[in-house]
Amino acid sequence: MPVSSPPRILAPQTGAAVRLGCGDVLAIIDTAGGQVADLALFSAADVTESFSTGRTIDYLERIKLRVGDALYSQRSEELAVVTRDDVGVHDMLLAPCSQAMFARRREFGHASCHANLTTALAPYGIGADAIVATLNVFMDVRVDADGCVTLHPPPSRPGDRLELRALRDLVVGITACSSELTNAGRCKPVSYQIQSAAEL
Ligand SMILES: [Zn+2]
Repeated sequence: MPVSSPPRILAPQTGAAVRLGCGDVLAIIDTAGGQVADLALFSAADVTESFSTGRTIDYLERIKLRVGDALYSQRSEELAVVTRDDVGVHDMLLAPCSQAMFARRREFGHASCHANLTTALAPYGIGADAIVATLNVFMDVRVDADGCVTLHPPPSRPGDRLELRALRDLVVGITACSSELTNAGRCKPVSYQIQSAAEL
């Protein structure tokens, strides 16, 4: 019985949720290149505890993640640690794309990360309003000296990956981001793979 799951592919503009045991490693893989994946992390023991971008930026004293960095919850607990990063470009400033966000652009009924996360996380008792902060993997958001924010195409190439080791039991929502604007004009798939702590 293998303890490592085979890679799973998320079709463009879709999402999934996975359960990680403490010590398991989750790999997010950009299958085609130039594609963002949003991650929403929750403590499995109490899903009201979740990843906080604000706490993480506060404790890291920067907005860029590096290998060895922890992702913190709003209760200042370490949820996961970065163990591999092929790209070095991820966003912790923007919220996941949502149907309301697309409606502001008069794109109604558009698929979105927020809706896909809501559907995927519902079986774990996590509702739409609990999905606030995400780690936007491979997303290139830049802040200039005046504080203005600009979006650039994801620099990730096919096969590039970000790996996180769970530091407690987690529920993690994953998307292949639905925004054409974020993904250089075309939404593409994302793959993920879980390596069990028993195998490491
Ligand atoms: Zn998105």
